[in-house]
Amino acid sequence: MVRSGVVEPVEVTDLVTDLQHLAARLDPDAIADADVGGVVADLGQAKRLVDGMVTAMARRTDTVTLAKATGTTQSQARQRHRTSTRLTDQPEVADAVRQGALSEAQVDAIADAVTAAPEAAGSLVTAASQQSAEDLRRTCRDTRANADPDPEATRQLHWRRRTCRSWRESDGEWKTFISGPADFGARFDAALRAAHDHRFRAARAEGRREDDGAYRFDALFDVLAAAGTTPGVDGDQAGDATTDGEAPASPPTGSGRGRQQKVIVTVDAAALRRGHALAGETCDIAGVGRVPVSAVLPLIPDAELAVVIRDGVDVANVTHLSRQATAHQRTALEARGYECEVPTCRSSHLLEIDHVAPWAETHRTVLDQLAWLCSAHHREKTRGGYRLTGPPGRRRWLDPDGRTIATDPDNRRRGHDDLTPQPDGCGRRQLTIDATLHRGIDAAVQTRRRLLALHGWRTTAGHDP
Ligand SMILES: [Zn+2]
Repeated sequence: MVRSGVVEPVEVTDLVTDLQHLAARLDPDAIADADVGGVVADLGQAKRLVDGMVTAMARRTDTVTLAKATGTTQSQARQRHRTSTRLTDQPEVADAVRQGALSEAQVDAIADAVTAAPEAAGSLVTAASQQSAEDLRRTCRDTRANADPDPEATRQLHWRRRTCRSWRESDGEWKTFISGPADFGARFDAALRAAHDHRFRAARAEGRREDDGAYRFDALFDVLAAAGTTPGVDGDQAGDATTDGEAPASPPTGSGRGRQQKVIVTVDAAALRRGHALAGETCDIAGVGRVPVSAVLPLIPDAELAVVIRDGVDVANVTHLSRQATAHQRTALEARGYECEVPTCRSSHLLEIDHVAPWAETHRTVLDQLAWLCSAHHREKTRGGYRLTGPPGRRRWLDPDGRTIATDPDNRRRGHDDLTPQPDGCGRRQLTIDATLHRGIDAAVQTRRRLLALHGWRTTAGHDP
């Protein structure tokens, strides 16, 4: 029977009774194989519908009652309460929730992003049906970051609440929690990357398999131990934080010398000059996404850091005949995103650079024809007959029979628009640098000159700063 009008509490009670009867009779082994997929999909839909109703109701109750009723923690109940309140101003998202189109995690992420960017509601609801949970979280994060009216204030906020806390659990286990501005996270990850890869490789060589988090833990202590036995590096970095003259309330601007890690920055010259990025301009740290210009400015004078300065569309324009990617092709590839380019794979360490069309056939190494692959997918491609096709951001992964296994979603962003190479013959290298960078970043200009010399780049005539 389909009832209409306002829901009466007794109808909800009836629903629970019906569900109880259904649950009591459900025998998974009695469901025919052909029906299993449909039953699981229907139950998923039922779960989203019920979750959606709980989310809609949440704002009418207090978080203690909500946590008890849903068997969740206080902080999860607070999140649900917040989402519930937000939905009153987000009719498009609320509609999708009513139709059972969004899971709890999806609606939390979308409602949060739509608060900052109301015009994105429709596209985010659509994205939820096309993207994996992780991709959707990134899309929401990027939407929010791009709509941030004052990214500098946001970074200052993240700096003020920066923390590194440690505690012991009741059984003595040590735990720690670190948070801070995203650009610090990028430095942290970069500092661990080499040691992390080393730990991972060593474990594989010994035939051990552990959770990736275990290797990162070991890597962190490797790095700390190395710092302890290398006073030069230690002293250098400690000095940086105190000699840059910053008030303690601001993120330090010193970037440290002698660092081995590489943080890839892609920034429009105009944004760098202005001190902040306008809509449509790029100011990204690879693996982090959009950051305020103040987060990248201090990184630039560091000669150890590879800097990709974007001016217009002419960034990386490289073709050559050797099999190996050059250092700046590698940098441009890292700027594109350090993760396996097989759609749906998100592996982000121990990646190998693959020639999309085998080098043995083309004898060319062109940026657009290079892809990051994790070792498992690299092996499948080189030995198993699997193929990767399409340009960066629009990749397809085909099995040996040519069937498509996975495709990049329409809105997967890899920054490939920023880094589209133009065929220009062999061995010629170009990097256009804006001619009128203001005097305040003379040091950056000097560093870029050194970088250019180091990598054999040549500036376009007449534009050398
Ligand atoms: Zn992969």
